[in-house]
Amino acid sequence: MEQIVSGGPLGMDQLMQAALYHPRHGYYTTRTPLGAAGDFITAPEVSQMFGELVGLWLAARWQAMGAPDPVQLVELGPGRGTLMADALRAARVLPAFKAAVRVHLVEVNPHLRAAQSRALESSGIAPAWHDGLDDVPPGPILIIANEFLDCLPVRQFVRVAGHWREKVVGVRAGRLVAGLGTPATLPDPDGRLAVLPEGAVIEVMPGLDIWVAQLAARAATAPLSALVIDYGSSRSGPGDTVQALWRHTKVGPLDRLGEADLTAHVDFERLVRLARAAGLEAAGPVLQGPFLMALGLEARASTLIRANPSCTSDVMSAVERLAGEAYMGSLFKVACLSSPGLAPPPGIDGTTAP
Ligand code: SAH
Repeated sequence: MEQIVSGGPLGMDQLMQAALYHPRHGYYTTRTPLGAAGDFITAPEVSQMFGELVGLWLAARWQAMGAPDPVQLVELGPGRGTLMADALRAARVLPAFKAAVRVHLVEVNPHLRAAQSRALESSGIAPAWHDGLDDVPPGPILIIANEFLDCLPVRQFVRVAGHWREKVVGVRAGRLVAGLGTPATLPDPDGRLAVLPEGAVIEVMPGLDIWVAQLAARAATAPLSALVIDYGSSRSGPGDTVQALWRHTKVGPLDRLGEADLTAHVDFERLVRLARAAGLEAAGPVLQGPFLMALGLEARASTLIRANPSCTSDVMSAVERLAGEAYMGSLFKVACLSSPGLAPPPGIDGTTAP
């Protein structure tokens, strides 16, 4: 709020940036967001099966690259470290892969860095932490980003009287109020924006362009494969997707700045388009449900149940939450961006999710 009072109205992206990353008051810089006591639960926190299947997927991508040793294994926003711990445990089936990986964790949150360190203790692998992807040493690289890109701030534009005007937030009488900026011109190469009705909202995630450029720069010098799993839509379209979650409850995006998680949906059509324009190969998006099924979710569930029949109902309900159409199975999309010339990634075929 101080920043708005002193500097005038902020765009939604600037507001998200401050609410999430302010050094003293930001949500990701100061809080422990995940888990029952936090604000939200992610797929690796639902069940170990998620990280294990991702681990096998990574091993297959490593083989597709020609089994380079060493290979940088990078997770962006690793949360409590659960996904990486489960993935490394599953990677034991391919000892040469486990021996080749150098684990890098890109994380802004000091509490979560400590949790990640604890989670990886039993793996026997010492990770390195970084503030950004550019700090990871060069060389062949495997990247995982589960619920990471949805943290990138978005700008929002509203159609008003035939113009696009940016949503901004200012302060009136000590309270935050939403307003509109001056008319802006937005690129509209295929004419899809021009036909949208009065009141339509579109979102632009500037960080996506920067992120894809980072990947493309690395892919120019060494093999690269990145797995992106996130909330989002397969096709670009209008809609206000900025959502605030506080203690597992939806609240207004302006209601608990710095206390609530603020996210926006990832536009996978745009992600794939940007990747291809930058010279990367892109597969997907597919829905998380079919992706996990193709990787063997049901077989893994059966093995866990056989080993410990008393956990049958827990395992079955985890399968439903991860892959069921009413849950994460269709809300989440999966895409893979790679350097050119690698075999197609497992579980992500050429068909795009609806
Ligand atoms: N991938 C994890 C956690 C997702 S929550 C899981 O699936 O459980 C988002 C994670 O990204 C948190 O660890 C958060 O601290 C981190 N994060 C958010 N924005 C970031 C940024 N700009 N740079 C690095 N880490 C970030």
